[in-house]
Amino acid sequence: MAEDCLFCKIVAGEIPATKVYEDDDTLAFADLNPQAPVHVLVVPKGHFADIVELSRDTAAGGALLNAIRATAETSGLREFRTVFNTGEAAGQTVFHVHAHVLGGRRMEWPPG
Ligand code: AMP
Ligand code: ZN
Repeated sequence: MAEDCLFCKIVAGEIPATKVYEDDDTLAFADLNPQAPVHVLVVPKGHFADIVELSRDTAAGGALLNAIRATAETSGLREFRTVFNTGEAAGQTVFHVHAHVLGGRRMEWPPG
């Protein structure tokens, strides 16, 4: 657990969240400020700052991919968007890697 990391605190149960999916390695919970009818954040339980760090641990990366699929299934999504913001300029505000899983409405492209 990294000090002062919001998502480490959610994983530890110190900050409440609405759980959508959980396994030994990952947790998925509802985004507090949803941008679509379904907006879930999927995180590894271990602390990695971003997808660049996560990509160096293929087991943890594979577990996160599996959890994204399971989250979509549990949420009843067959079509959905998955976003990893990496770095402040890309819109990352919480530096514990998380996949945004968005669905339940039509998505536009390009993103803003
Ligand atoms: P990002 O900007 O990609 O780092 O995404 C961070 C996301 O975390 C945003 O979509 C926020 O709405 C969400 N968020 C922040 N605090 C919480 C919280 N306590 N519980 C659930 N989602 C949160
Ligand atoms: Zn963390």
